[in-house]
Amino acid sequence: MANCVFCKIVAGEIPSKKIYEDESVLAFYDIEPQAPVHFLVIPKDHIENAGCVTSQNSKLIAHIFEIISKLADELKLKSFRVVTNSGTDAGQTVFHLHFHVLAGGVLGAMA
Ligand code: AMP
Repeated sequence: MANCVFCKIVAGEIPSKKIYEDESVLAFYDIEPQAPVHFLVIPKDHIENAGCVTSQNSKLIAHIFEIISKLADELKLKSFRVVTNSGTDAGQTVFHLHFHVLAGGVLGAMA
């Protein structure tokens, strides 16, 4: 989608520090980390947010969680938090579905 920063990362038009890629999913480190380990896992196809998950695309979401589990294992993350913000009031700033994976040390309380 035009003017979507994460679509531009998928297309290689904006650089990113990639950790994983397959035909449908990309994972890369967050540019402004909020924890010692902070990466994002996104579908390559543009889905606006968690409010747009349907029976048509939910298998992709399950696949994303498989990748999160695999990456947590590879990165030896004993504990980690997965967050997705859906909508402006929830703090979503990039309107392309993404799952924050935060880890490293003791994480603060949820909002
Ligand atoms: P959210 O506020 O939940 O929509 O999260 C968007 C996240 O994307 C923020 O944590 C940003 O730091 C991150 N972000 C924005 N642009 C980039 C980029 N070019 N590369 C990596 N992370 C980014």
